[in-house]
Amino acid sequence: MAPCSRCGGPPFFTRKYSGETLCAKCFRESIVEKTRQTTSRYHMLSRGEKVAVAVSGGKDSLSLLRVLSELNVESRNELFAISVDEGVAGYREEALANTKSLCSDMGLQHTVVSYKDLFGFTLDQALDWKDEREVSSCSFCGVFRRRAIDEAAAKVGASVVATAHNLDDYVQTFMMNLMHGDVSRLAWLDPNYRDSSFPVRRVKPFMEIYEEEIALFAYQSAIPFQSVSCPYMHEGLRTEVRDFLNSLEAGHPGMKNVLLRSSLDVISRYSRVQEKEVVPCSSCGNPSSSGLCNVCRMKAKIEQQLNYRG
Ligand code: SF4
Ligand code: ZN
Repeated sequence: MAPCSRCGGPPFFTRKYSGETLCAKCFRESIVEKTRQTTSRYHMLSRGEKVAVAVSGGKDSLSLLRVLSELNVESRNELFAISVDEGVAGYREEALANTKSLCSDMGLQHTVVSYKDLFGFTLDQALDWKDEREVSSCSFCGVFRRRAIDEAAAKVGASVVATAHNLDDYVQTFMMNLMHGDVSRLAWLDPNYRDSSFPVRRVKPFMEIYEEEIALFAYQSAIPFQSVSCPYMHEGLRTEVRDFLNSLEAGHPGMKNVLLRSSLDVISRYSRVQEKEVVPCSSCGNPSSSGLCNVCRMKAKIEQQLNYRG
């Protein structure tokens, strides 16, 4: 391998899509720099703003916490780590422990909210109660997780939540929305979109970085990898889309990048014509599109199931 294209040091990684070879130090700096460019290109974070980083405890979110805290030296944001404990026996403990230890090393406040405290049930209980035919476990869980993140962000007084979605996640989600015929959701992917159905703004500072580069950054930064996965994880179509994109990328380096650019172009044209009416939920007051938010709708269904079981 050729020496580092930037400093001539020993090679560590080659970006196949650009042909650039980097040493370990320049690779690390390039990840921090790319994140800085993305946050500034899309005006994700304002100077001095309170930022809640949604940390699941996996490699991506712990890396995001690291990178944002390095960038924070210039932007002087107040950073908080927030985590959601869904209540899945034997799964979340390790991730929460990893997050707690990284936060204490970095001197950051770590706030954990749980489904049990917020909604009155653990995910284990809710999935046992819910009607399996309705929605997949992850779609069901996602509705409550989004609300839990909003609650945690409100608790620490943050005006923006940063999530660790990377370029691969972004392109996969774009394609899956198309495959599900869920075009109205594309607007959610617009980095400039302000969705009033989320009380707190969402940003994705890693959306222009390949997943494999974040994994390498995590490895290089000695960020622990979570060994247990959620027992309810069922990615179905997403796994096929991921494999398809990886094989395209292997044959045509840079293809995922091109797809990201095309997705962003389509999304920005589409979200300009999207006007969504938002009304307060009649039950909890949170924003909703129909007068009853998804959280209250799903909670009502769970209660119905429970009454039915008697
Ligand atoms: Fe929830 Fe699915 Fe994540 Fe498990 S894998 S915590 S069910 S979103
Ligand atoms: Zn509601």
